[in-house]
Amino acid sequence: MTDFYFPMSRKRDRFIPGRYGIERREFLRYVAAVSAIPFLPLQSQEPVVKSPRFAADPFSLGVSSGDPTSDGVVLWTRLAAGPVDISGLPKQPVEVRWEISEDEGFSSIAKKGTVVALPQLGHSVHVEVDGLEPWRWYFYRFHAGDATSPVGRTRTAPRAEMMPEELRFAFTSCQHFETGYFNGYSHMNQEDFDLVVHLGDYIYEYAGRDKLPRKHLGGELHTLDDYRQRYAQYRTDDQLREAHRLFPWLVTWDDHEFDNNYAGLVSEEDGVSPEVFLARRMNAYQAYYEFMPLRRRSFPSGSDMKLYRRCRYGRLANFHVLDTRQYRTDQPNGDHQKPMTGKVFDANTTMLGEDQEHWLMSGLTRSDATWNVLAQQVMMAPLNRGDLELPKYSMDQWPGYEFSRRRLLRFMHERSVPNPVVLTGDIHVNWVNDLQLDFEDPDSPLVGTELVGTSMTSGGNGGNVIKEYERARDQNSFVKWYNSNRGYVSCTLTPSEWITKYQVTPIVDRLGSPMHTAASFRIENGKPGAQKIG
Ligand code: FE
Ligand code: CA
Repeated sequence: MTDFYFPMSRKRDRFIPGRYGIERREFLRYVAAVSAIPFLPLQSQEPVVKSPRFAADPFSLGVSSGDPTSDGVVLWTRLAAGPVDISGLPKQPVEVRWEISEDEGFSSIAKKGTVVALPQLGHSVHVEVDGLEPWRWYFYRFHAGDATSPVGRTRTAPRAEMMPEELRFAFTSCQHFETGYFNGYSHMNQEDFDLVVHLGDYIYEYAGRDKLPRKHLGGELHTLDDYRQRYAQYRTDDQLREAHRLFPWLVTWDDHEFDNNYAGLVSEEDGVSPEVFLARRMNAYQAYYEFMPLRRRSFPSGSDMKLYRRCRYGRLANFHVLDTRQYRTDQPNGDHQKPMTGKVFDANTTMLGEDQEHWLMSGLTRSDATWNVLAQQVMMAPLNRGDLELPKYSMDQWPGYEFSRRRLLRFMHERSVPNPVVLTGDIHVNWVNDLQLDFEDPDSPLVGTELVGTSMTSGGNGGNVIKEYERARDQNSFVKWYNSNRGYVSCTLTPSEWITKYQVTPIVDRLGSPMHTAASFRIENGKPGAQKIG
């Protein structure tokens, strides 16, 4: 079941139900596989191996933590026979012990316990610890047999009624392994962050290509083991593993964790039948869950996985983590740059899906946090990338879903949602945008601020002046700044202001390039829009 795979060679055929006998067979296999997942036996029939012996370090994939609350956090690891060996361990459940401590020497253990790493989940371990103290650092580790994991460091969130003096976090996205080294992480790892937010494109699904700084193992990803091996390969990067070890993470995906520019059940390529597509989505989602420090609420159910959720830092910040891929309607007029016409204004289109949109709006209404952070994927400001005669917009981004975008911005304006700040990844360029209620009216009130982060590596070395972006900056009055380097974005939040530094390097095709701050911005509490301060 775990190697569930459909040959993709026929994917250009238009799907017409019943036209091909094979599709019925595929459909039955799909139904069988999808219905099996929710019933993964959490207590396996196989006896649990209590004292496993490993030929090599079983913790080569490292440790990670995430989704902090004021009294707990998720601790993650995954047993493996070797760094990229995803099928080398016997298919038996293995006992893993965990402990979390107030000190690095583990002399003051706060909590400990035992879990079973199941072969059905690739021997991944997700421990949801509770009963911890709010807003404090902890150290954790795992043991399996005689082996002990690296010591991870993590931090709980403040209690709901607390107002911390400061929250520091970094956000990043788009880490195409082949196009470069994760130099941004080596600098991020030197900074003091309470949290790392990842906005997606954690992996890329493409086949390995030659003549790049690194090379993906294998072909384009389809099976569960394909996706697993890709995540394992990304975690061979020392700096990425170290960033997971040092900070708690709050993750969401974009498209490449599965398939470029997909929309719900619709592939980028025409004619992929929905059941073939869903079976592949199931594999992609399961591998994502297996490798990320996520709570049980995000446990995949067949080809669905609920990733939208909140993470609250007292009364200072409320992170509304969004999934703009799984529930969206298909991109109107194809997913490239088009004039904003036709289906863009179809009232039935949706970026978030009805449930998530209601969840977001009700959460924003109730939120009493100073900063309401939307951690999400695609650009919200309608960036005209054509020219003034023929404006064109990316149909894969919020402007392709005008009803959704206008509804959300109007809602935040009318309900006076405190300080909305939208974090965006996806497009491998840094942007800073004012979010206006009505982008066609230059005097329209500002509703919030959008901070778009560049890629960690995707696109390769950056730093060039790009004519198209120069024009886009000049003809879109809401754009405050853009920059085409690589890196991450550092944010320091206090009750009175939000300071953002764009940390960049032009170089990713070799290890160890210097970083610098390309620009800094301040957002004042109660005053939407970013002001450049350096
Ligand atoms: Fe990307
Ligand atoms: Ca993307």
